[in-house]
Amino acid sequence: MPNLLFRCAKDVHRAAAVLAVLGLSLGLAACGGTPASSADDRPVVLTTFTVLADVAKNVAGDKLRVESITKAGAEIHGYEPTPGDIRKAAQADLILDNGLNLEAWFAQFVEGLDVPHAVVSDGVKVMPIGEDSYQGKPNPHAWMSPSNVQIYANNMAKAFATLDPANAAVFEANAKAYNAQLQSVQDEMVAKLSVLPENHRALVTCEGAFSYLARDAGLKEVYIWAVNAEQQATPQQITRAIEFVKSKQVPAVFCESTVSDAPMQQVVGATGAKFGGVLYVDSLSEADGPVPTYLDLMRHDAKTITTALSGGTP
Ligand SMILES: [Zn+2]
Repeated sequence: MPNLLFRCAKDVHRAAAVLAVLGLSLGLAACGGTPASSADDRPVVLTTFTVLADVAKNVAGDKLRVESITKAGAEIHGYEPTPGDIRKAAQADLILDNGLNLEAWFAQFVEGLDVPHAVVSDGVKVMPIGEDSYQGKPNPHAWMSPSNVQIYANNMAKAFATLDPANAAVFEANAKAYNAQLQSVQDEMVAKLSVLPENHRALVTCEGAFSYLARDAGLKEVYIWAVNAEQQATPQQITRAIEFVKSKQVPAVFCESTVSDAPMQQVVGATGAKFGGVLYVDSLSEADGPVPTYLDLMRHDAKTITTALSGGTP
């Protein structure tokens, strides 16, 4: 017990320092629960969102405990960490973030934490955002190309090897095996989308999160807003999307699972295009939903896009 008490006291101290920075106060329940690690002493890896957690689990195998800070369905760009998130992070052994300005909240989140973190997108060939106030900034959604996720997996294997050197070979082998699965999903996706007729090769979505997928599959990407943020779906942005859909006679448009589809329904109402379905980008679904894993997410999106753009019903 003395060990646990010390660990708890240290963590409360750390968490309190971070909370003070965020202008929050530490609840009395901070030390109330049994430490989650009491029956599981594997190192704990936290990721900023569910997609990274799934990839990390594939690389970690059963050697590390991997959890996501944000839950399935959460809006991840402007997420506001809770005191519980900060307590959890203070006890983690490694934190993984996407980088490329995806997690606007991350720098402040880790500021007071004495926990190493690694940026998993390091080494990816970055695509810039083409429009809006974000023009020229990196498009953060690099994981929408499975080829990029191979780089993510290799970066994770390296970070895990530093954390747990005894299992370095296991992480490397896991990453290699997972990368083979990523390659087949990449090939499947490109093959599926390449059957679309030339005049239907346009992907109209709410957020501009599909640049990497569109590049891989040879689709023209059009979106209402560039990056999920407070200011989105202005009348001008909606008009721009409506004009594109009308001029190219795009048969179907899409919106993502973590945002409201109301602006895209306006585009549907004004153009006669069909609503092609919900796409997943920034979050997996719950375990019993349509995309519990990253590989499911890519397969689901490729199928939804192909079906709707070739005239099928979602
Ligand atoms: Zn996004």
